[in-house]
Amino acid sequence: MTPPSSNQKPKNSKKPQKSKKSPQTTRPNAMTFVLVASLMLAVLAVLGQGEGFLDSANTQEVPLSTLQSEYSAGNLASIEVKDTTLTAEAIDGTKYRSTKEPDANIADLGFNDIQQSTEVEIIDTTGSKLLLNFLFSLLPILLIIGLFVYFTRRASGGAGGEYGPFGFGKSRAKVYEADKHKTTFADVAGAQEAKEEVTEIVDFLKHPKRYYDMGAKIPRGILMVGQPGTGKTLLARAIAGEASVPFFSVSGSEFVEMFVGVGASRVRDLFKQAQRNAPAIIFIDEIDAIGKQRGQGSGGGHDEREQTLNQILTEMDGFDDQSGVIVIAATNRPDVLDKALLRPGRFDRRVHIDMPDMVARRQILDVHANNKKFTPDINLDKIASKTVGFSGADLENVLNEAAIMAVRQREKKISQAHLEDAVEKVSMGPERRSRKITDKEREIVAYHEVGHALAGHFAAECEPVHKISIISRGGALGLTWFLPEEDTYLRSEQKLKDEMVSLHGGRIAEELIFGQTTTGASNDLERITKIARSMVMTYGMGGQEVGPVVFSEKSRSFAGIEFHESDVSPDTARTIDLQVRRLVLEAETRCRDILTQHMALLKQISVDLLDRENIFREEFLAYFDSPTPA
Ligand code: ADP
Ligand code: ZN
Ligand code: MG
Repeated sequence: MTPPSSNQKPKNSKKPQKSKKSPQTTRPNAMTFVLVASLMLAVLAVLGQGEGFLDSANTQEVPLSTLQSEYSAGNLASIEVKDTTLTAEAIDGTKYRSTKEPDANIADLGFNDIQQSTEVEIIDTTGSKLLLNFLFSLLPILLIIGLFVYFTRRASGGAGGEYGPFGFGKSRAKVYEADKHKTTFADVAGAQEAKEEVTEIVDFLKHPKRYYDMGAKIPRGILMVGQPGTGKTLLARAIAGEASVPFFSVSGSEFVEMFVGVGASRVRDLFKQAQRNAPAIIFIDEIDAIGKQRGQGSGGGHDEREQTLNQILTEMDGFDDQSGVIVIAATNRPDVLDKALLRPGRFDRRVHIDMPDMVARRQILDVHANNKKFTPDINLDKIASKTVGFSGADLENVLNEAAIMAVRQREKKISQAHLEDAVEKVSMGPERRSRKITDKEREIVAYHEVGHALAGHFAAECEPVHKISIISRGGALGLTWFLPEEDTYLRSEQKLKDEMVSLHGGRIAEELIFGQTTTGASNDLERITKIARSMVMTYGMGGQEVGPVVFSEKSRSFAGIEFHESDVSPDTARTIDLQVRRLVLEAETRCRDILTQHMALLKQISVDLLDRENIFREEFLAYFDSPTPA
């Protein structure tokens, strides 16, 4: 058995628009700058040297003294000095070249006699060469600066020119411009209550003055609570879209990156930016990354996270009541948040976004099916009913996977089969037909899975079997897929016990058939233990000895190491352990009874499964219609 995993697709539906200042367009890349600079220097250097080479054929090499005497005789028309080389042209056109000591001044060499019959043009380019040398010696420094700029920019998240090399402390909030790619409530399917709760915020952002004039206080902070992928970010963006205000989005984990002491100044900058653009929304995603209860951090409690959190609190307190900025934060762990964050005047409003129910799932599928082509026979209701426990992001992913499959198979349209395959892929990972397992292993997997299915079937409260498969998927060699028929919000004690029974099924089947168990059951055991532990410690289902008491296990980290501490006395801990063991063993015994009793069915279905690889719900149920002789 494999737990349904929810692989989330990266959110790429709406692309964020960069701020109005459009940093990418104007700033040349630092690397380019360095390249151009070095190219220019190289060209200069070649030009500087190149002269004289061409006509070197008709130039006479002479000692310096010859040149001096020619000069004194007044035969020269011009002298050019470059470094140690003197090039002279006589009046009759002859060209001389000579060399001097590097330090020797041209005037000291005797070329300073003003009593000359002819005007001698002395061009001394030594100076410019010096400049060139100077530039050359600068080159490595330029290169280093260039590289520094380049890497710090990359490290601080790309092209943001205004957040350049020395802008570490600047906020890197992404701004979604109000009019482009506008997200509205229509994009958020389901989540009816949440939408209703935030319409008031939209109205305020649209007409802040009405509220101020009436003297009404507007909430400053809203906490969106919901499982990952339920549309918290989407709803926040829709609020901005509906109200046509700028949306500054930043993620809690971004604050904690890079350099210490930066988070707080980023917060300051972010709030300043938003206030300049008010009315506006600041959206802080994953606020639990910074908003965890204080005093639990490592190293004396003055760490980065805490400073950042304090700065957020300070900024929110410093808000003018009429600033028109609303802070929306999102989290899936409201329980770990620092109480100070939840005080009145801060994030005192909560908007819960639930996992979508059947109707909402259908609506979400509709929203994302909009731009896709389907064969006429598709039934999205059926997909909605099959996807209990899927979040909005999962559902979007299902449709996307289906579309990808259709393209891969060169189909023109997405069919129901594509959709059903996509549901399995999203909840259980892709099939791995290429994985090589031995025949013996295949056999073990088959009995293991049928064991789960049978135990689950006869444990009355377990979810119905949806599919049994011995095709490897994700990390599992085979799987039994139980699927609830409807959304449920409560699990009874009996149901938890029955789930444990079915989880035991795989291992017990191996034991009964092969006389020993394999490592394949470790995940099952883990899940059984977890259920039993939470029954005893959290749900008060541990029997008389433990009583209806909740025992919490706290974990705190110090210097990066997690410590578990428990507020349970050693005696109680022992009782808890005993009760957990009792529950696990009870379930095991029940499971063994069931499978022993239905041994014939276990063998028969397993043989069929080995043959067919998949057994679907109707096929599975058919075994119980006409009882086979044992
Ligand atoms: P969260 O922030 O709660 O983790 P997101 O808002 O990032 O979730 O949702 C991820 C994606 O899933 C969204 O971009 C959207 O495409 C899809 N999605 C989630 N919930 C809904 C919904 N209620 N209606 C339509 N799409 C949704
Ligand atoms: Zn198993
Ligand atoms: Mg999100």
